[in-house]
Amino acid sequence: MNPPRVDVPAVLRIPIELQIRIVGPGVSENLGNCPDCGQRMSLHQPDENIPSRLLATCEVCERWYLILEGEHPGGELLIAELPAEAAIRKEVALRWFRGRGGDEPGKPGPHHSTV
Ligand SMILES: [Zn+2]
Repeated sequence: MNPPRVDVPAVLRIPIELQIRIVGPGVSENLGNCPDCGQRMSLHQPDENIPSRLLATCEVCERWYLILEGEHPGGELLIAELPAEAAIRKEVALRWFRGRGGDEPGKPGPHHSTV
């Protein structure tokens, strides 16, 4: 059976658990190394207007981290591990594709965006 076609952009809301490392000013943490595998990561600044927000990517274990610098100079650094692609695909498969199989007309389903 083929998965249902999505004719318009759809929004699926999924509660996720974020793992956030809080690095205090006195704690030494090598930002360039992956918290998971310890290998060197690539640091990116996607928005040139927001230098306090970085994206770190690990080519070895393929994890991505959002790095937020402290709101005040010398404040805590927050390192949030972004959900892995496999985890996102699994949730969508479980909650969207599988949940759409027996939909009856008029039954509230996943929210469709009007964009
Ligand atoms: Zn890694």
